[in-house]
Order: sequence, then structure tokens, then C-alpha cells
Amino acid sequence: MEREDLPSLRALGFEEAELRELDLWEPASGTPANVAEMYVRRSKKKDTLSTLREQVRRICSHAAAEGKRIRRVWFEQKSASKAYVRREEFEKATAAITKSGLSKTLYVYKTSRLSRRGMGQVGLLLDKFEEKSARIYVVAEHIDSTKQRMILAILSEQAREQVTDLSEFVKLGIDAHKAEGKWTGGVTPFGLRTAGGRLEHDPAEYPLARRIAEYLLDRKTPHWIANKLNSEGKLTRHGKKWSGPGIIALAHAVTWAGLVAQRDRALDENGKWTGKYHRGGTPLLDKKGNPISCGEGVITFAEHVKINAILASRAQKGTSIGDRTRGKREIVALLTGTLLCGLCNGAMANGGVNYRCYARQVEGEHSCKGVSTERARIEAAVEVMWLNHILSLSPDSPTIRAIAREWLSYQDPEKEARKTHVTAALESAVGREMKLEKEFFVMGRMDEDKYDSLRDQVAAQITELKAELAELSEEADLTPLMDPASLAGLWQGAGIGGQRALLKAAAKGITLLPSKYRGDRTPIFDRLNPEWRDDRVHPAEEAAWDRWEERRTQATV
Ligand SMILES: [Zn+2]
Repeated sequence: MEREDLPSLRALGFEEAELRELDLWEPASGTPANVAEMYVRRSKKKDTLSTLREQVRRICSHAAAEGKRIRRVWFEQKSASKAYVRREEFEKATAAITKSGLSKTLYVYKTSRLSRRGMGQVGLLLDKFEEKSARIYVVAEHIDSTKQRMILAILSEQAREQVTDLSEFVKLGIDAHKAEGKWTGGVTPFGLRTAGGRLEHDPAEYPLARRIAEYLLDRKTPHWIANKLNSEGKLTRHGKKWSGPGIIALAHAVTWAGLVAQRDRALDENGKWTGKYHRGGTPLLDKKGNPISCGEGVITFAEHVKINAILASRAQKGTSIGDRTRGKREIVALLTGTLLCGLCNGAMANGGVNYRCYARQVEGEHSCKGVSTERARIEAAVEVMWLNHILSLSPDSPTIRAIAREWLSYQDPEKEARKTHVTAALESAVGREMKLEKEFFVMGRMDEDKYDSLRDQVAAQITELKAELAELSEEADLTPLMDPASLAGLWQGAGIGGQRALLKAAAKGITLLPSKYRGDRTPIFDRLNPEWRDDRVHPAEEAAWDRWEERRTQATV
């Protein structure tokens, strides 16, 4: 009697002699526990007959080691481009086990051969195998479904999820085109038009668009800009009046910088894709993590980052939207929130030329007799105290580290923004990698060549992004905080908002002791009692105070 699979084995190029050697010549007899199915598939174009024969040999050798005979070899070849086609031979091979109960083992060579099932019901398949006390054995990877179901989790558990995001890989495909820097269609942002699949300045709109950009860079609020343009009778592309939110949308649009946007899907309340994308988005990054250009922009990438930082700094905390249309009131008083009343230990508020006890000011004299002091004088004193304190600290002090972080974000917002971008890009790449594996292993909707190439791309991106993130996360150079001149420069260049942050990083509070009597001439320094976050007694601190005292004395002489 001839084996049923002889035509397949001959198609694979086996000769009788070798088939006898492999125990594939005679029909296999035995109980279901002693026989097995073998599934061989030619999926890649580069799978030659000899590599497939080698797979058959290795599976036979493994089966012999397990004391099993191959009942039937199921062989199929499918065009690599037709990943969606239902794999009939695979269905038959599994049916021989789950339906007919002819054997208890299915051998495949690699997980990729196993998993590429048309409808991706590998989890259900494993359940059926389990019911029949049958198993799948993956020879190349030594995975036994009865012992290492965890390893096959990617094949089993995830398959049960309702996969809503099938088109993710269509999107990956689109991204591949985007990566070539082509404008992918849609409405161009104000100031730009398309030409030959790229963005370019629209002569009719660009001058006004650039003016808007410069206003934004000049920290003008979107509301102010809209008002200004409307007062001049300037209209939008659609002939309408400008609005604050319209300006904001433009400012957030990555495409306004001539960059390809990584658009985020808009989901409904159930987490299902609505078919729409959020506007603006973040720039799509190439594998080195650089934003991809799709032509000319109204603004540069650096300007985009800066404008977004300006808008974000105005957004109010605690609200989901943030009041982006109005400018935040500029902070004018250095010591608000730091200076404490020496009598009631409460806050002192900025009263114009003075700082005054807030309790006294609001609740009256019965609450606190109150302390007040001239603003300019005390601010100058605190500045000196701060400089001396910082210079007294060792490089490993938490205050120095906190200030270095603050200093970095003030001095190098692009680096900070870049870090945020890279972190986000890394997260997204890792997410893509996971989805890719799911699509391939579980859903079986992708052919192996495409999977390999996409996975290589994602892996390369992840490597590059990790390296860049490590670089960006390197500790800051602390020398500017150790040198008096550069420290003073840092302080002066920080602006009032930055100075407040620098001060708060160093001091929990500074208490102003009351004057002993009216016209008390006690030096202001003697009335200031700082509570530093980092209050270790340090010889350098004492020395710094001494030096300052010396200078002060000389100055008054
Ligand atoms: Zn008070």
C-alpha cells in the first residue's frame, strides 16, 4: 500500500531510498498516541526545495527520538502575497487530530509556519488540541504546546481578543510612503500649498502665515493675534474671521513646519476608531528619530517646538483643555510663595513696592500685627543669599541636581522637547513591534517577508531611539552652577519666572523677622532666615558669607 502523502513527498524531491531511511515510505501504523502529522509549508520565495527537505528530515529525526511515526506529511505552498488565503492543508492536518482523532501530535518546523492561519484562531486551536490531549510541537524552537503554553501565549491568548485595529498595518504601509517625505493629501495648513507631492510656500498666504508665526514666537496670545488680524480686515483661507482656537490649531499642526505628521487615531468612548484622526499630532520620525520633512514649512521644527512650549506654558493646570487663548499673567514678584511672615509664619504677598503679611492685609491686625519690607531691597538680598548658598553646595547635592534640571529646561527647551519626542517615539515603536507580532503570529494576516522587513525596521528604530534617549538623558554639565560668574549669568538670564523656580529649588521658605522697632537699622540679612532644602553646614558656605560681608563692608566704607 502506498502512502497518501507520497505525491507531496515526491514533489518535495525525495527519492525512495531516503524516504525509506526517514521511515516515510511505508504507511505508518500505530495508535494515535504513536503517530503524528507533519505540516510543511513553503511560504518564502527563498524557501528552496532543499531547505524544505531539510525541515522534513529534522522533523523526522525529532519524531524518531520521541518514538513517533509520521502518519502523514501535509505540504502546501502559497504565494507569499496571498497571506489571507485560507490554508487548506493546515486545516486538514489539524482536522486529522481534532476531528478524526488519527494522531495526537502535530509537528511544525517553526512557529511562523504554525501561526499563519487564515482566521487567526490559534488560541481556539490550542484549546481543541488540549481537549483531545493532543499537542503541537515546534521542532526548530523546541516548543511543546502542552508544556510551554506560556511561550505560545502570543499565539493563544491574544487571539481571543477582539482585534479592532487591523488597519494598523495598512497605516504602517502608509507610513512607509510618508517616510519618503510625500504629502499624503488633505487640506494644507495656512500658508502652504502642494506641488509635486511636496509642500511649498503659497505666495498668497505665506506672508500672513509667517506673521502669525512671528507673533506666536513673540509670545503674543492666539486671542491677541486673531484680534489683531481681524482689526486689519485679514481673513482666513475660507474668507472667515480669525479666531483664537484657529490660531492654536495652526500652531499645533506639525505640517505647518513642513513635517510629516504622525496622526493619532480619534477613538470613540468605547475605544473604537472613529475613522478620523486628531489634528496636529506629533511629527513622524525616521529611524534615527529625526522628523521627516514633506516640503517647505511656514516655521522650522525648532520654531514648532518653541511655539508649542510657549502655548503649553500658558495652558492652565487642572483643566483638560487649558486656557490657551489667553496669556497667563506675567509673574512679577520673585518672593511670592517663598517669603514668610516672621510673626505668623504665613505667606507674604506682593503689595507693589512692598511685601506684606498676607493675613494682616486680608484679615486685619487682629490676625497678625504684620511685617512688611521694601521689595527691591529684599529681592536683592535674597539674590545674594541664593548665589552664595548655591556656590557653597557640593556637586552631588540634591539642590544642585534639581537646579541643573531646571536650568536645562530653561536653557535648552529644544533638548527637553526632543527628549519628550524621542520618549514618545520609542513608546510608539515598541507598541508597533507588539502589534506587528500580534498581526503576524496571531492574526496570520501578514506574509513572512513583509513581517521580517517591518520587524527589522521597527527593531532598528528602537535601537536608534534608545541610544538617542540615553544620550539625551546624560547628566548635565554642572560647572555653570559652580562658577560665580556663570551662576550669576544663569540667574539674570532666567527671567522672573525662572528665578522663582531657581529659588524654590533651593529654599523651602525664607522667613522675614520683624524689625525690632520703627526705624530699626538691623541689616536685612540678619532679618532673613532661610530654610534651605539642602542645609548641610559647609565650610565653603561660611567662607562665602565672609567674603560677601567683606565686600559689603568695603562698599560702605
Ligand atoms: Zn503675619
